[in-house]
Amino acid sequence: MTPISGPRVRLEPAHPQRPDQRLTRLRIGIDLGGTKIEGLVLGSGGVEVARKRIATPRSYERTLDAIVDLVGDLEAEAEGTASVGVGLPGTISPATGMVKNANSTWLIGHPLDEDLAQRLRRPVRLSNDANCFTLSEATDGAGRGASVVFGVILGTGVGGGIVVQGRVLEGAQRVAGEWGHNPIPWPQDGERPGPSCYCGKRGCIETYLSGPGMEHDHRAATGQSRTTHEIAAGISSGEPDALGTFSRYVDRLARGLATVVNVVDPDVVVLGGGMSNLPGLASAARSALPMWVFTDEVSTRVVVNEHGDSSGVRGAAWLWPDQREER
Ligand SMILES: [Zn+2]
Repeated sequence: MTPISGPRVRLEPAHPQRPDQRLTRLRIGIDLGGTKIEGLVLGSGGVEVARKRIATPRSYERTLDAIVDLVGDLEAEAEGTASVGVGLPGTISPATGMVKNANSTWLIGHPLDEDLAQRLRRPVRLSNDANCFTLSEATDGAGRGASVVFGVILGTGVGGGIVVQGRVLEGAQRVAGEWGHNPIPWPQDGERPGPSCYCGKRGCIETYLSGPGMEHDHRAATGQSRTTHEIAAGISSGEPDALGTFSRYVDRLARGLATVVNVVDPDVVVLGGGMSNLPGLASAARSALPMWVFTDEVSTRVVVNEHGDSSGVRGAAWLWPDQREER
């Protein structure tokens, strides 16, 4: 036994912190949507520590206030300070430093990242929501461990993002990965010039692979107006019209992905958005890829996302990937 003279030495701090809080790097992700703002805190290993959702105010100043309050609430619950990343359906223009292409139009023309950094007294990273989806899946989702991940959003619109070795490839214009407004590759006679797109062009991939695009295609081929949910049910039950629409959808998805593979050559393609829930979509698209890719051995995997609706907000948190970038 070691003799200790004098008053007993107190080794513990007066207010001991739990080891996980003392050592954990906390990351806040904010998903800034048109109707709601979702925030969460990730602790070590990507474990969710806190989460909160609020309605999106419809003015710029009140949106800033709401995000600052949300960060404060999340940090109080997580009992620590965190890095902050924000995902939004839009981007910061490299030319002007202002938000552009946001469907939350009250954000457009404002330096959102700078204003948030000033109010939160720390650097804030912003990225497009499709990039955040891809980063989330590349970090600890369906694309974990892969060097190059192409994330695909197949929803009411079609978008995408590219993550290389855990980092978002933003690009010179910050449009990297936005394949939805490329034209459908290897168009067949019935696909020329293709449906009109809101972007002003015709035959964009989005006009075929979005939810409304599939509904339009089903109506054009069968004369029936069906929702994507009804078509999905028809695919599951083996209904011929629904299966026909599905096979055209898969063929177009494979053609669209093949041009991405020919340029970027990702290890994994992760499918997200509502259409990624179509039964058997990932494996069917994977099977159709070799017909179009410029190689005889396709090793690219095509998989469905793991984090679902949480991918956007998790990816925003992962915009701060490692300790070395802390200030
Ligand atoms: Zn378009």
